[in-house]
Amino acid sequence: MAVLVDGRKLSSTILEEVASKATELREKSSVVPTLAAVLVGEDGASVSYVRQKEKACERAGLRSVTVRLPESVTEGELLARIDGLNRDRSVHGIIVQLPLPRGMDVERVVSAVAPDKDVDGFHPLNLGLVMRGTPGLMPCTPAAVCVILDSLGIPLAGLRAVIVGRSLIVGRPLSCLLLQRDLTVTVCHTRTRDLADEVSRADVVVAAAGRAGLVRGEWIKPGAVVIDVGTNPTPSGLIGDVEFAAAAERAGYITPVPGGVGPLTVAMLLKNVVSASTSCGMPRCP
Ligand code: NAP
Repeated sequence: MAVLVDGRKLSSTILEEVASKATELREKSSVVPTLAAVLVGEDGASVSYVRQKEKACERAGLRSVTVRLPESVTEGELLARIDGLNRDRSVHGIIVQLPLPRGMDVERVVSAVAPDKDVDGFHPLNLGLVMRGTPGLMPCTPAAVCVILDSLGIPLAGLRAVIVGRSLIVGRPLSCLLLQRDLTVTVCHTRTRDLADEVSRADVVVAAAGRAGLVRGEWIKPGAVVIDVGTNPTPSGLIGDVEFAAAAERAGYITPVPGGVGPLTVAMLLKNVVSASTSCGMPRCP
């Protein structure tokens, strides 16, 4: 039976560090690390994610401001609001809650956030730094997966990793981070010929497809590390992409949904806000 990896416990350790750095900043330089969240429309899940981030900021002593815009906002108006936040010296981190209304160019919007305030780590420049292995503002979910892996205290070099999902916010940047940890990485997607075969050879499986129960328990190699990024709403609550009970029978370690990657993703976001507020600390900054 697998060891359950407690994402909430790991995240509370990170949040304690974030809170103590925020206190130090406030006392030494009167800076209050501030996150601005841009929320377009009233999508229930998006509203609740933004609320979670506001609460986390409050608990850690960070300031948060939420810019609420109606579903009818034009892309030009949204870009102008982002530009205003980029120029606002009291704001250190900016996130634009996705998804955006149909018809908006997500890439243009995400790229409009100043790279040194891009605490989601979605800007092409920050993704490029991840690819190069240069420290910068890291995309939060891939960083959360790495915190989980590092917490296990097992040698990672040479392990076979399979990531299910190739999105720009999870699968692709994560593949770079795992390569930097010397794992041998395979990234699967909807055109992968035999997902079961790929997963069954993996020492580390990261499921990030957004398909409930896609990764079957019987595919898991005995002793493997299984990290479930997926969040799929069901009438009885959130479930992951992994068939949890059957996978837990075979895995060495497994993350639950909820209570695994999710809380750590929020913690990594706040960590980025604090680092964005100290100095940019990034190679491109003058
Ligand atoms: P996304 O942009 O929709 O990408 C999903 C990826 O999974 C795509 O690459 C897709 O392949 C692949 N995929 C979908 N169905 C598949 C199948 N049947 N077999 C193999 N591959 C399949 O999603 P995302 O934004 O990366 O998010 C993925 C999941 O993670 C979602 O459930 C999301 O809610 C969750 N998530 C959780 C957190 C957290 O904090 N816990 C953070 C971010 C995301 P193609 O490229 O071929 O279409």
